[in-house]
Amino acid sequence: MVLFERAPAKINLSLDILGKRDDGYHEVEMIMTTIDLSDRIELHPLDQDRIDVSLESRYVPNDERNLAFKAAQIFKTMYNIEKGVHIKIEKSIPVSAGLGGGSSDAAAVLRGLNRLWSMNIPTEELAALGAHIGSDVPFCVHNSTAIAKGRGERIEKLPSPPSCWVILAKPNIGVSTRTIFQRFDMSCITHPSTSEIISALEEKNFIKLCNNLGNVLESVTIKLHPEVQQIKDRMKYAGSAGVLMSGSGPTIYGLVQHENKARRIYNGLRGFCEEVYIVRILG
Ligand code: ATP
Repeated sequence: MVLFERAPAKINLSLDILGKRDDGYHEVEMIMTTIDLSDRIELHPLDQDRIDVSLESRYVPNDERNLAFKAAQIFKTMYNIEKGVHIKIEKSIPVSAGLGGGSSDAAAVLRGLNRLWSMNIPTEELAALGAHIGSDVPFCVHNSTAIAKGRGERIEKLPSPPSCWVILAKPNIGVSTRTIFQRFDMSCITHPSTSEIISALEEKNFIKLCNNLGNVLESVTIKLHPEVQQIKDRMKYAGSAGVLMSGSGPTIYGLVQHENKARRIYNGLRGFCEEVYIVRILG
């Protein structure tokens, strides 16, 4: 039996850093939601006890460095499974873009193997396992709008955002999350108003949501790559109600309520930026 899993990208409605922990990680508070831009994961059972990964990408390795491979490895080890799987990945989410593609692939493998091998492991436990792979994996295992705390492993579900369109623009640069966190300076930040975003979600208040989007890593990435600011300015000027960089960037997204306006902004940005997408929020 071949099994399919969708691995959707995420955007950050907020990204706040509260401090540095003794274990070297940052203490974060991030509100994220999933969008309709997904990788496709196929899981094929193998007769031999091994993990194969195949995908067509210049940027992503198909060996044990792939987060999907790591997910399968940790799942097999944790539950003592002596079976093999071939993971086929069809990538649509841009790589190193701040959209959590690798984490989502890993999470989809955890969810998929749980089904393939009829393990019935609760989502909470799968998410805890995912935390060993990467900070965004627990969120991706849950796959819905949520706030992630700690180093990303403490997930609390939130209401999904009000219905809207998302325009994504990714400049032609890859950003290393590690570099951005290393350059982040705790002494000069303005914290986003996380509680206001939560109440905007609870009230389904689109304008309040747009007015409170915030990401403390934005200025760090913009300092390294000023073109990100130009895209942000374009996105605002074109009429997006809320504009923010997702994760450590460089992707900038804009939120718009009406489809006609979203399509106008999308078409305008296509002349300015190579990779532009128009999607809906999955929530
Ligand atoms: P993050 O902010 O969590 O680092 P991102 O969205 O900015 O995520 P990804 O697309 O997840 O970035 O890729 C980050 C790195 O992870 C890249 O160097 C990539 O080669 C590596 N990677 C490993 N496995 C995968 C995968 N399945 N898909 C994408 N990237 C992967």
